Amino acid sequence: MSTPEIANISELHERYDALFFDSFGVLVDGVEALPGAIELVDHMNSENTNYFIVTNDASVSIRSRANKFASQGLNIPTKRIVNSGSLITDYIAAKNLKGAPALVLGTDDVRDYTTAGGAILVDIKSEQEPDLVVVGHSNPYDWESTLEYLLNLLGRRFRSGNPIKLILPNPDFIYPNGLNKFSFGAASFVNLLEQALLRLHGSHDELTAIKLGKPYQPIFKLALLRAKTSNAVMIGDQLETDILGANQMSLDSAVVTTGINRKSSAEDFKEVSKDQTPRYILRSLI
Ligand SMILES: [Mg+2]
Repeated sequence: MSTPEIANISELHERYDALFFDSFGVLVDGVEALPGAIELVDHMNSENTNYFIVTNDASVSIRSRANKFASQGLNIPTKRIVNSGSLITDYIAAKNLKGAPALVLGTDDVRDYTTAGGAILVDIKSEQEPDLVVVGHSNPYDWESTLEYLLNLLGRRFRSGNPIKLILPNPDFIYPNGLNKFSFGAASFVNLLEQALLRLHGSHDELTAIKLGKPYQPIFKLALLRAKTSNAVMIGDQLETDILGANQMSLDSAVVTTGINRKSSAEDFKEVSKDQTPRYILRSLI
């Protein structure tokens, strides 16, 4: 990949048949809409642009996310939102895990995504052990004791030849949580668990979480299916999720400078690996 070129949103609009937008760090900062986002969404709605919000967020339903966007002034219809939460439902259905006991660490909406696929909820304190653990949200757990419980449970079940499926819908380690503020994502805690399991049992696929959101392929495949074109560009703020994922899917990508990434010129990308280098730098949404 060559060095990124500076582009503006109307150039991307002209070159691609579909625009994929990350939400946090691109359209919103976790609290309010970022500059230009409201006008851009209004413009795309009026032009009937083929656009989708492709978000790793798994904590709320698509309806709740659309309502939250609306409260921030972003008029985004539910049909234009692709999230990693809904992929939980698809995964459980596709793997025929109907009736499987599932422990969900997450919000009520994550529980809904899980039961919609046919799994049955069990509590962390229940006698019945889960066959499926969904780590859908980073708070408000006592993570040390929760991870210790999972470390021992997953290790024991792996050794007995009946491994538990660990599902991580949102692979973001960190996320913007207000202006210049960041918080730990669920992936940070899952990574700790994976690292501990690796040290105890060695490297095995069964001891690694199944990851659904960016940079992994399931969410991009769903977005491309919904967009009905492969001529799409992914616009995001995180090199290791939005940009890496797009590159791995052979999709073009544009990085913004309003979220986690602050690199704003081709020169800034000199030391960045090719697989995390975007095709474009988008300095503003206007
Ligand atoms: Mg983001």
